[in-house]
Amino acid sequence: MARKGKQANISSVFERIRYETPAPHVARVTLARAEQRNAQDRKMLYELDRAFRIAVADDDVKVIIIAADGPHFSSGHDLNDRADLNEFDTVSLWGGFDEEGQAGMMNGEEEIYLGFCWRWRNLPKPTIAQVQGKVIAGGLMLVWPFDIVVASDDATFSDPVVAFGVNGHEFFTHAWELGARKAKEMLFTGAAFTAEECHRMGMVNMVVPRAQLESATLELAQRIARRPMVGLRLAKMAVNQSLDAQGQWTAIQAAFSLHHVGHANARAKYGYPVEPSGAELIRNEAKGRKA
Ligand code: ZN
Repeated sequence: MARKGKQANISSVFERIRYETPAPHVARVTLARAEQRNAQDRKMLYELDRAFRIAVADDDVKVIIIAADGPHFSSGHDLNDRADLNEFDTVSLWGGFDEEGQAGMMNGEEEIYLGFCWRWRNLPKPTIAQVQGKVIAGGLMLVWPFDIVVASDDATFSDPVVAFGVNGHEFFTHAWELGARKAKEMLFTGAAFTAEECHRMGMVNMVVPRAQLESATLELAQRIARRPMVGLRLAKMAVNQSLDAQGQWTAIQAAFSLHHVGHANARAKYGYPVEPSGAELIRNEAKGRKA
């Protein structure tokens, strides 16, 4: 028997997100931390994972949208978040979050960054990211794991964290999303690519005016939802398996290891897991300065 989500009761359990079913067979999970430009703290990530589990378990839901309140989709990880991972209902079998040296941090990023992104990439239902405004670094980790990207014409995408002495954010699918040359340009320069550029590169499926972002995404979701769940699931698996056959998972894991070489190098040099000058460089370039 189909399990039906009890929508009225669901949203009340969340503080960082909302869970809604805006149309038949469509669930929408919305980042609801606009004042902080939807910076992702650990609580938000665990709430997202819980929401996706609810949507997957509800046989009435066929398509899942991830959206965001406010002018910007997500500014990335909340670097002020100090929440203890041991307090959460963790989803991987990693543990060791308090280990000394680089190990504790690597274990934590395996759980909440690489681990979550890979789980969400493999959600057994079609997913759509509905994106506006700025998407920075970890913000891409709430876009790239999802199947289809609908962006408003004001959306921009960047991963400037090479300035921190690491290779890029923790879910390293850059070369698949942008092609190798543009991936290198994004990483080497820290520049923000527009929605239109990303559409040309195939990273974004469609670009719409800001005012139509929600309705266009919902319309697309409803079109998808007219198809049988089994066909949708098999189609998604077949495409993902094509990426797997290209070695995507192996490449992502290798890049994650290099990411922690970067963190460990900064930790050895500065006693801090990123290059201390990185934040200023990123801030200055965002303001249009070359200093
Ligand atoms: Zn990291």
